Amino acid sequence: MKKIQMVDLKGQYEGIKDQVNTSFQEVIENAAFINGPQVQQFQKDLEDYLQVKNVIPCANGTDALQIAMMGLGLKPGDEVITADFTFAATVEVIALLQLTPVLVDVEPDTFNIDPEAIKKAITPKTKAIVPVHLFGQPANMDAIMEIAEEHKLFVIEDNAQAIGGNYHSKNGKTYKTGAIGHIGATSFFPSKNLGCYGDGGAIFTNNDELAHTIRGIVNHGMYERYHHDVVGVNSRLDSLQAAVLRAKLPKLDVYNEARKEAANRYNDAFKDEAHIETPVRKGDCDTHVYHQYTLKIKNGKRDALAKHLQEKGIPFGIYYPIPLHKQKAYTDSRYNESDFPVTNQLVQEVLALPMHTELDKEQISYITETIKQFLNT
Ligand SMILES: *Cc1c(COP(=O)(O)O)cnc(C)c1O
Repeated sequence: MKKIQMVDLKGQYEGIKDQVNTSFQEVIENAAFINGPQVQQFQKDLEDYLQVKNVIPCANGTDALQIAMMGLGLKPGDEVITADFTFAATVEVIALLQLTPVLVDVEPDTFNIDPEAIKKAITPKTKAIVPVHLFGQPANMDAIMEIAEEHKLFVIEDNAQAIGGNYHSKNGKTYKTGAIGHIGATSFFPSKNLGCYGDGGAIFTNNDELAHTIRGIVNHGMYERYHHDVVGVNSRLDSLQAAVLRAKLPKLDVYNEARKEAANRYNDAFKDEAHIETPVRKGDCDTHVYHQYTLKIKNGKRDALAKHLQEKGIPFGIYYPIPLHKQKAYTDSRYNESDFPVTNQLVQEVLALPMHTELDKEQISYITETIKQFLNT
């Protein structure tokens, strides 16, 4: 059996090696390392793939979120509602811009922000909602967009974990995640579903005016060379990273299909296990892109199982071990523990199994058999 890895980027590279090597060579020979033609081509490719009018590449997913909030003109003191159960980057940029993060609980089945909790958290200062499509599954965007419309709020989708996912709206249309709200932000960190070989990110929007504003922000607030109209940042996707992304984007659906297949195998193996809840998929089979395959271990033995997996050479992840509202940097006297029953429980139950495009049957059955044996003895 091949050694099991949490993420296997080497195997994936084999399939795009010639193209990546050739375009790396091209970038180096042309020495257009920043803003070379690969960046513009990738931008166009991604606009077509996502069916969104504007893609603005940037340096990483955290920047993408920050720049989105800058582009919307959010001001210190404005409240931004996001999920208590997500990666810290989402809340970090809110705090960094001196906006006020308002963390709310998530749904127990999808792990995604709970629209009912959003409603309760809205105040006259609320300006935006940041749903995260956690682990690759779209949040309940119909409900979120309805709330946003009613209260005149912006919606910034944190799509770092869900690129390529589809969302079937009740209006009958199908959207790519990240292209539903006012702005989408994503990351091309190597382990994401569409990852480059370093850092990278992008912002999406169908609003041309907003796109123009953001194109200036990512480039020191310049709309005309050496005229700085707004305070900006330096956040660029470099040409080498764009070359990798151009090679991978045409394969994204195939990659996501391979993840789904692995998820289906896991689901099958665990279907009769009393102590395991497998990830629930809301909607059709093309909605969830399984950035992570996250189990809930219901018998209180999550940590013991984790230790056992470590001994057996099976990698795993605990995403996330601490609710954001309990992190030192983000505590706030407005929170009550009773506001976060779901997140507080999830942090004790979740366990993510290896998930990538190169997992084979043999590896999956070794993983699932090891887990079943442990939980049933
Ligand atoms: C990875 C990730 C980010 C940040 O992306 P970087 O490119 O690492 O800055 C933001 N939000 C979520 C949910 C993520 O998973």
